Amino acid sequence: MLNNSHLYHQTKHDLKKRGIEVDNVTLNLDQMLKAKEESVKGLTKGIEFLFKQNKVDYIKGTGSFITPTKIKVSLLDGGETEIETKNVVIATGSEVAPFPGGAIEIDEKQIVSSTGALELSKVPGKMVVIGGGIIGLEMGSVWSRLGAEVTVVEFLGSIGGVGIDDEIAKTFQKTLSKQGIKFKLNTKVTGADKTDGKVFVKTEAAKDAKEETLEADVVLVSVGRRPYTKGLGLENIGLEIDNRGRVVIDNQFNTSIPGIKCIGDVTFGPMLAHKAEEEGIAAVEYLKSGHGHVNYNTIPSVVYTHPEVAWVGKTEQDLKKEGVQYKVGKFPFTANSRAKTNQDTEGFVKIIAEKETDRVLGVHIIGPNAGEMISEAVLAVEYGASSEDIARTTHAHPTLSEAFKEAAMAVQSKSIHA
Ligand code: NAD
Repeated sequence: MLNNSHLYHQTKHDLKKRGIEVDNVTLNLDQMLKAKEESVKGLTKGIEFLFKQNKVDYIKGTGSFITPTKIKVSLLDGGETEIETKNVVIATGSEVAPFPGGAIEIDEKQIVSSTGALELSKVPGKMVVIGGGIIGLEMGSVWSRLGAEVTVVEFLGSIGGVGIDDEIAKTFQKTLSKQGIKFKLNTKVTGADKTDGKVFVKTEAAKDAKEETLEADVVLVSVGRRPYTKGLGLENIGLEIDNRGRVVIDNQFNTSIPGIKCIGDVTFGPMLAHKAEEEGIAAVEYLKSGHGHVNYNTIPSVVYTHPEVAWVGKTEQDLKKEGVQYKVGKFPFTANSRAKTNQDTEGFVKIIAEKETDRVLGVHIIGPNAGEMISEAVLAVEYGASSEDIARTTHAHPTLSEAFKEAAMAVQSKSIHA
């Protein structure tokens, strides 16, 4: 949806200046949703195929613990079965966090979570997004590009969710504002009423408690997700969860019950698919050999808007808090040849290195293809590279990744092209 809504928006508003003239560009939302469904089907079918190829039995149903080694499964096709096992890995993920106090009820039609926001049957005239985290900004971008008037209400003073660098967050907000998304920061949503086919969203300013009502056709609730353990029967085996519903584990993914491990959104850490994937592999490696490895300092975050936002490692605000002395190098895409020729120059690369050792501690990018470029930074942080190592590494010309090299040069002394 992000890719196709971007292509639609670009075709409608950006191709003419590039010498490509297209008449009567129209949106076929049904087809766009169908393309999304086909992608999802292709990917999930691909996993089923891999299961078969690797001799993994796939039992379709809902599992529930009877004892730590016995699981009852209510089969999707009806009936029940039981599995006896030595080891279990819980990986049940997360679900949308409901609005606190039940003040707003999600109906997945007019008041939607990310699930409903991926299935709207028409483009809303006005959309209010509650929460300016990753889901709010990604889904807000999709519907804004397709023609909705989008207003994001965010409780905090900045957007982008947990872990984003303050400077990047400010640029990100300016960029999305230029694209037409409106922001109400330091503002809390307190409730919503449905009347005459509209939703009236009540807000309250953090500073002076000033109240306001926003009218919307569709409201997206994106105020976070919570661990999903419903129906798992954890109470039958007395498995420990914390006060936020997360399954408690040690540093080898062991839960409070021997033989049961747990990974992903349902336990601690960022709720990201690639984090869960690393943990899944490490958990099985611990089972098989007693050794496994996940470096939580090198898990990248990516917001798939346009431009993309991506980061890894520490932010400036983290390092200030920790009292670590650091140097910063920045390079803008306005000075990068590929971004210039592509006429896609929004954003910059920022590298933070330890002052004394020059070791790269964090990399923050807002710009075209940031989500791909961040892998180079992940590798640098994983292998303990210095900014000088990066500055002395050849990067192909003309590529966006030259901005990464130039930001590293800027940590050293001065970049060449800015
Ligand atoms: P989030 O925690 O990232 O953001 C929620 C935002 O809502 C916060 O900024 C919070 O301050 C705000 N908020 C909470 N209550 C509010 C209120 N009453 N009024 C106004 N604002 C309020 O949560 P999310 O965006 O729902 O995402 C959930 C999880 O899914 C995150 O862990 C995210 O990383 C993950 N996710 C990641 C990706 C990706 O990596 N591209 C995509 C989708 C989801």
